[in-house]
Amino acid sequence: MSLAIHDALLPDGRTTSVYVEDDRIAEIGRKRDADTTIDARGMALLPGLVNTHTHAAMALLRGYADDMALQEWLTEKIWPVEGRLTPDAIYWGTKLACLEMIKTGTTCFNDMYFHMDRAAQAVHEMGLRAYLSEGFIDLLDATQGQALLRKNEEILRRIAAIGSSRVVPAVGPHAIYTVSTESLRALKDLADARGYLYHVHVSETNQEVEDAKDDHGTTPVRLLDSLGLLGPNVVAAHSVWLDDAEVRTFAQRGVKVAHCPVSNMKLAVRRAMPLEVMRAAGVTVSLGTDGPASNNSLDMFQTMKATALLHKFASGEPTVASARTVFDLATVGGARALGLEAGMIEVGKLADLVLLDLRRPELTPTHDLVSNVVYAATGDCVDTVICDGRVLMQHRKVPGEAEILEHAEKVARDLVGGR
Ligand SMILES: [Zn+2]
Repeated sequence: MSLAIHDALLPDGRTTSVYVEDDRIAEIGRKRDADTTIDARGMALLPGLVNTHTHAAMALLRGYADDMALQEWLTEKIWPVEGRLTPDAIYWGTKLACLEMIKTGTTCFNDMYFHMDRAAQAVHEMGLRAYLSEGFIDLLDATQGQALLRKNEEILRRIAAIGSSRVVPAVGPHAIYTVSTESLRALKDLADARGYLYHVHVSETNQEVEDAKDDHGTTPVRLLDSLGLLGPNVVAAHSVWLDDAEVRTFAQRGVKVAHCPVSNMKLAVRRAMPLEVMRAAGVTVSLGTDGPASNNSLDMFQTMKATALLHKFASGEPTVASARTVFDLATVGGARALGLEAGMIEVGKLADLVLLDLRRPELTPTHDLVSNVVYAATGDCVDTVICDGRVLMQHRKVPGEAEILEHAEKVARDLVGGR
């Protein structure tokens, strides 16, 4: 199977053609014939955006509860509804999220939620690439943790049984305040043995850090490090309240960070994650939306802009978090965080690609494509999405869209008892 994209503008300023064979970029520069040919005149070709932290099926809870303190939001609103989530709800919620991601140029995401074997089915059908971890919460009860571990392994086995290189199991201990140290360790052993990512929330709020000092006598990062749990397969979501020594620890251990600026600002975590310190230390930083109930969008263009604005505003330095830096975090940074050969338009990389329609008012003129992508574009500017060499959307049309919206709306209403 081959795919040719003719005469597209690339982020480096070249206008050229790209040839895809099966799932990889095979040639750049020559206008070749292929099974499918896309005339990309008037369009920009970008690497697909990579969302390294979300809870996709929370799309069903978008707008259900906002403008609340984190603890109240969780205990009064989110957790009671999550207790009623069925595998079918997860399937339709994940379909809805995938549809939104396709329509806004995301080709790969790192997800943590429940009934993830059903999420895996949805991802498989939608054609996206995803790392899927069953959210693990034993409420610090190691005995309960053992039973949950067996359940977790069974779900990971079912995800792997789908047999798609795009649908990858991962391990997802929720956080140090919801998972016993025994289970945190057992899950790390499992991740290391199978080559899975270890996806965990770390130091999202100052409260989390203060509670860790009370409960463990140390900070979340120091605790994880003392347990020997930090390593190159760890994707640490948020990582807002880290001191410089902890950033150096992340760099030494090769920990990857999923920075979620929109969620952080919406939940008022009170400081900007130390992006410049992390970059200077050599930590791989990537971008995530966090769940659609705490964002409330999966549009990574919004997240790119928010990243630039947050760090400029918080530091008082308009020179930090430049458009190029932020674009790299959302593309090659995401790919590196997940260990994926993608995020760049280069021969040999996975053909996870996006065409942006440049004939739109907000993208005119094109003095600087990357500036327009970060500061002016929204997901609506995406015309075509290709994942694993396959066209998932062209001219903003995704097959089955109406059915997904209808089912997701119904499932969401039933879930919150709206009918
Ligand atoms: Zn999260």
